[in-house]
Amino acid sequence: MERKVRVRFAPSPTGPLHIGGVRTALYNYLFARRNGGDMILRIEDTDSRRFVPGAEEYINESLKWLGIKIDEGVKEGGDYGPYKQSERRDIYRKYVKQLLDTDKAYIAFDTPEELDATRSVTSNFQYDASTRGSMRNSLTMSKEDVEKLIEEGAQYVVRFKIEPGKDVVVNDLIRGEVKINSSILDDKVLYKSADDLPTYHLANIVDDHLMEITHVIRGEEWLPSAPLHKLLYEAFGWADTQPQFVHLPLLLKPVGNGKLSKRDGDKLGFPVFPLEWHDPKSGETSSGYREKGYLPEAVVNFLALLGWNPGDDSELMTMDDLIDKFSFEHCSKAGAKFDYQKGIWFNHEYLMKKPDGQLAELFKPTLEEKGITGYSDEYIAKALGMVKSRANLIPDLWTQADFFFTAPDSYAEKDVKKRWSAETPGIMEELINVLEGIDDMTSANAEKIVLDWIASKGYHLGNVMNAFRLAVVGACRGPHMFDITELMPKEEVIRRIRKAIENIK
Ligand code: GLU
Repeated sequence: MERKVRVRFAPSPTGPLHIGGVRTALYNYLFARRNGGDMILRIEDTDSRRFVPGAEEYINESLKWLGIKIDEGVKEGGDYGPYKQSERRDIYRKYVKQLLDTDKAYIAFDTPEELDATRSVTSNFQYDASTRGSMRNSLTMSKEDVEKLIEEGAQYVVRFKIEPGKDVVVNDLIRGEVKINSSILDDKVLYKSADDLPTYHLANIVDDHLMEITHVIRGEEWLPSAPLHKLLYEAFGWADTQPQFVHLPLLLKPVGNGKLSKRDGDKLGFPVFPLEWHDPKSGETSSGYREKGYLPEAVVNFLALLGWNPGDDSELMTMDDLIDKFSFEHCSKAGAKFDYQKGIWFNHEYLMKKPDGQLAELFKPTLEEKGITGYSDEYIAKALGMVKSRANLIPDLWTQADFFFTAPDSYAEKDVKKRWSAETPGIMEELINVLEGIDDMTSANAEKIVLDWIASKGYHLGNVMNAFRLAVVGACRGPHMFDITELMPKEEVIRRIRKAIENIK
């Protein structure tokens, strides 16, 4: 029987979710939606030493911002909970016992100090079939001694008893068959009595099984664990229902070789985290896509194309388009260069597509921050509509549209030199009179009247218009002058020309 597709995103709350993790979450989501399946969010927090406060909330907020919807999880609930591994202790205990009872695992008492000592005499020491016979474990000790030690409170771990010399073949939907020999694997620790918790490997396998996961979609860095995971499914007797593996290509540095790192972002000035992150320990702040002024739709579109292509030349795709087109057939094995410039391009395209009213909503916090009030939604929307073609990120809207909301208090020196001469104040006084006489300030009408006046006086068109612009905007930049003066109240335009006459020397 075909099983319902169920996928999980299984982050460990050890810090802010990296942009590569976001891409993993996105591909899980796209695949689930494409196939009418469920998307599960499982928090893998069995390693208490690496726990970072705030990391789980950060994951939730990031996914929410990007529109990656979770069907089952800590917050959402579901029939397969709890969805946080630290709350599943009782469940894991039973499965550790099953492996011990069926001789697939054993108890080992070697202390970290003893293991260090062994490593210092035997370089390349690996705890496996060739060495386990000379270590302190339930395979070398009598049953009575083992029980006695446990009763006395000795700490121990449970190790997976890997049979050497076997070919392990893993099937990956992107990579095809990956074959390794079991002799290279060590007897992985599956459980630690000290914190009564399983390690990542055991918890991950047990949960994927119990949560009826059909596809394990994760980053390439987890590929080396796949053979071990396959052996664990077999040891439990779950080989028939083990999930299909899908290991996604690495995200690579924009320049040079190797994996994308936070340092690349710092150096080249792009975030590697979805949201800004304040490290609770170091107090350090790392920038995020949201705070830098990216739109979530743009980030999603950009990330989707890092390692996957739609099989045609579509570039701009909404979440629904992506869901519609997504499949692993068009995922690449090779790593994907993190072309952050392309990310900026996507953001520009999405800013252009956004209705002005929605842009205004996104822009209002910037005005509030600057203490600017009193502008109607319509005014803000129209102002942004005029400048958005010049903006890549949301803060660029302020850089481009600032003069709509605040009068210039300085004037670009270079432009003044070029466009403001001794006669200019007099001509600007005349311009004020002309503007005062215009009842209908719509762009085309005002333009015709002003240009006719310039022509009738024989003034230099470029000089007059640029001086006008300098007075209203503060520099020779911005959209069509008469579009500006159509939106801006006429009194304000005139006030600015007066101010310029007074202040520009
Ligand atoms: N907890 C692992 C992580 O942090 C999960 C890896 C997996 O998906 O199996 O990425």
